[in-house]
Amino acid sequence: MTKTERPDELGESDAPPLNAPPPANSAIPPVNLPEQAFTCQKHGAYRGAPVRCTSFDGRVKIIPPDCPKCLEEAALAKEKEEAELKTRQKTARFTQMNIGKKFWDEDFSTFNAYTPQLKAHVQTCREFAAAPHGKLVMLGENGNGKTHLAVSILKETSGVLYTAYEITLKLHAAYNGFGSEWEIFKELCETPLLVIDEVEKVKDSQHKSNWMSHVVGKRYDHLLPIIFIANCHMKNDCTSNEKPCPKCLEFHLENDVISRIVEDGSLLKFSGADYRYKKRIEAKEISG
Ligand SMILES: [Zn+2]
Ligand SMILES: [Zn+2]
Repeated sequence: MTKTERPDELGESDAPPLNAPPPANSAIPPVNLPEQAFTCQKHGAYRGAPVRCTSFDGRVKIIPPDCPKCLEEAALAKEKEEAELKTRQKTARFTQMNIGKKFWDEDFSTFNAYTPQLKAHVQTCREFAAAPHGKLVMLGENGNGKTHLAVSILKETSGVLYTAYEITLKLHAAYNGFGSEWEIFKELCETPLLVIDEVEKVKDSQHKSNWMSHVVGKRYDHLLPIIFIANCHMKNDCTSNEKPCPKCLEFHLENDVISRIVEDGSLLKFSGADYRYKKRIEAKEISG
């Protein structure tokens, strides 16, 4: 803030004498003096009421009023600083949750539930976010908004999102001396909400089933929720002639893991038109 100058004309104005000595050893409350002209080095002339303060030892000090434009600028700067801090905190939170940048501005409010099925899924996800427990399994083709909904839940709770591949990479790195396997499992088993995306994308199926089985079991014991997302369908819903079908969840996970996932989980099946495609079309319609 710009330092405000005391004008020379202060003593020449029609204000009462400023330097009248107060009675010794008495506390004198500050006195508002009549409004007069001041000059801000940055903003020029302004008017305001100075305050006369008298200390215990009788010394008098005139405090000029703040320049209103300086005050306004300071308030705006503070507002900007607070907004930047909020953005930094948000960024740090989303980074810690391992949420991809393309989802930083996405939540339930930006989800386009354009079919009855998606509307029902949004409802289920909102209920899960309000009281997360057990398991939520989202199955369906890519681009149907599964990750968008999982991120929306994650933002309302707290926790972390990993693809199955990322978890495998972290574990492999730990086996090679980069990081601690124990710490990785601790996070996976104890984070308030764990989202595992692209469950189907890891070929190392024996190894995946091992860590997944362990994590699912531990989280079940700790009564902590978990969300699985897979670009898959259940074997019961399979219409493929290819056997074994690589799009069946059973192709990717051991049966004990599947039964653990599904036993107390809500299963959300995403089908129909491509959500991302639909979203792009709608964005185009709005902008064009
Ligand atoms: Zn000023
Ligand atoms: Zn199949």
